[in-house]
Amino acid sequence: MARLRPHKIVDDLMHFECKRCNKWYPMEGYHYNRNSHYGIASYCKQCMYESNSMNKPKKEQAPSYTSEPVNNMFKNLGYDLKEDIHEQFKQKMFEKYGVDLSE
Ligand SMILES: [Zn+2]
Repeated sequence: MARLRPHKIVDDLMHFECKRCNKWYPMEGYHYNRNSHYGIASYCKQCMYESNSMNKPKKEQAPSYTSEPVNNMFKNLGYDLKEDIHEQFKQKMFEKYGVDLSE
């Protein structure tokens, strides 16, 4: 028989034990995980967050426009890479083609 995840009913709500901090939370305390038995993650949201931020090295917080070729392409097109590329793109589209992309 498959081992069911430990759970208990509190105030008519099913609570599950977080496998990391061993605290009990209702379903709302967990992220969804379609692969798991009850469709929720093994760790509570707080533990998910903590384990994620621990695994992530600080220097990986690079901006989205990192690769050299892409940077050069934007530079050649006259973009200022220190500014918001998306905003500049919208501005250019408007100036060049009269297309207003702003929401
Ligand atoms: Zn937890």
